[in-house]
Amino acid sequence: MNNLPGALKGMKIAYFSMEIALENQMPTYAGGLGTLAGDTVRSSADLNLPVVAVSLACKKGYFRQELDRDGRQTELPVDWNPATIMEMLPQEAAVKIQDREVRIRAWLYEQKSLTGGMVPVLFLDTDLPENQPRDRDISSVLYGGDDGYRLRQEIVLGIGGCRMLEALGFRIRKYHMNEGHSSLLTLELLKRHGMDLEKVKELCVFTTHTPVEAGHDKFPYPLVEEVLGDWQDLEMLRKLGGLQRLNMTFLALNLSNYINGVAKRHQDVSQHMFPGYKINAVTNGVHSFTWTCPPFRRLYDQYLPGWANEPELLVRVDVVPDELIWEAHQEAKRDLIDYVNRSTGAGMDYDVLTLGFARRSTVYKRPALIFQDLARLRKINARGKIQLVYAGKAHPRDLQGKRLIEEIFSRMRELQGEIKIAYLADYDMDIAARMVAGVDVWVNTPLRHLEASGTSGMKAAHNGVINFSVLDGWWIEGWIEGVNGWAIGPEPQEKLSLEEGVTRELDDLYNKLEYIIIPLYYRRRDEWITMMNNSIGMLAYYFNSHRMMRRYVSEAYL
Ligand SMILES: *Cc1c(COP(=O)(O)O)cnc(C)c1O
Repeated sequence: MNNLPGALKGMKIAYFSMEIALENQMPTYAGGLGTLAGDTVRSSADLNLPVVAVSLACKKGYFRQELDRDGRQTELPVDWNPATIMEMLPQEAAVKIQDREVRIRAWLYEQKSLTGGMVPVLFLDTDLPENQPRDRDISSVLYGGDDGYRLRQEIVLGIGGCRMLEALGFRIRKYHMNEGHSSLLTLELLKRHGMDLEKVKELCVFTTHTPVEAGHDKFPYPLVEEVLGDWQDLEMLRKLGGLQRLNMTFLALNLSNYINGVAKRHQDVSQHMFPGYKINAVTNGVHSFTWTCPPFRRLYDQYLPGWANEPELLVRVDVVPDELIWEAHQEAKRDLIDYVNRSTGAGMDYDVLTLGFARRSTVYKRPALIFQDLARLRKINARGKIQLVYAGKAHPRDLQGKRLIEEIFSRMRELQGEIKIAYLADYDMDIAARMVAGVDVWVNTPLRHLEASGTSGMKAAHNGVINFSVLDGWWIEGWIEGVNGWAIGPEPQEKLSLEEGVTRELDDLYNKLEYIIIPLYYRRRDEWITMMNNSIGMLAYYFNSHRMMRRYVSEAYL
């Protein structure tokens, strides 16, 4: 028996996201957007916020990653059965795709908190016997298929999601579009409100998540005309979504009264990309309890009781004795190193300075930057030993992303016997949680201006792991040089060519490793632990999703 009847009370915020990472065994996410959505749901439940979330069931998930000896990625389907985790609700909704009616049902996941809060998450599913085979497939693969497939998914998510909320009896005060995938919901709202743009804008909140062009879905109008059976006013659509192609970002921008980027820097970048719209900033955060490893949870419970639902308390981390911080870290590190050695045979050591890098493998994240100058890296390693742990999936169609994984494998071979390097296959929430707690330094080297926020470094900070990162996204707001971490390369306001920027980044990457990070780790352990403390007390206390959700409530929802 579900708690839905109780959850129907009052007006809700409907949070729409193409991907949501709720549990490791639910492959309904691909990367940062999904983990952010999961953290949003978790914090909303803890804070008792009146939120209901909507996503797609993705019965074949994203994919399971296998890597061969050369780092070549194979994608395997993930088979999971939502019925083992959720229950399917009896209510139905329908959308029109081409001239067919596509029926939709919803799986209900209840995100419950110890505080008594509960956020219902609806996973829409078209895999129903009454639908035609091609329509039964719509909710099966996350980010799979061609444009037509994606558009069908977005019709189900946006329009179908709105109708499902209505069929279930939810009353909605705001529709929050987490990225543009769900922005067709604005069309449904326009219909409901007699095409009154202002009325719909009042109801809509839009968060844009990336300055990378490929991250903004655009559909050719002939396809839209063919597929979008419920909406045939193409002239209106062109006004709202762009003349050349239907741009889901523009549709959301034109129909939302509150628009935000996910860090202050990303606000500026987005303001440039979308002149004429007022872009706000709500800097991302992560769910503190989820991303804190068990040894640190125990420490915080003992010294900062209540921290999980009030992460601001982490500002007082100095009350925790240094040696206990170090012990907790070493416990997390042993756990990671054992896992690495079990799964890759890398033979890593507990006492070697360990660098971690894990995120989607794609060109702008530059996972292989540190291998630019192998002679230099060898020299650094002679000063003080380092070892590197990697993880990350490349999107099945991102051939360059796949090549980057292969490049890391080939470096691994070149450096064999000198620097231990491991690449963990099938990056997911569990591997992320182990890595962000178990390495000593969290490395982040995106091409400047392209990382909207990034969240894995915030997870690292919750575990006293120190960030070493390009000044982009959230790190610009968190970084104090040599106090809570280190910068790689120039400050954001410096105007440099791409080449100059990269030169400065490589200089910092190698020089700081050799002359600052290695000596501090091996010879001035007490100062190292002070920086670990600062990472917790100056970063984790702020870059958490409880603070983020309170900001959304006071600035966007109310
Ligand atoms: C946190 C997380 C991400 C996002 O990491 P970024 O640093 O923002 O790229 C991606 N995938 C998984 C599994 C995560 O846990």
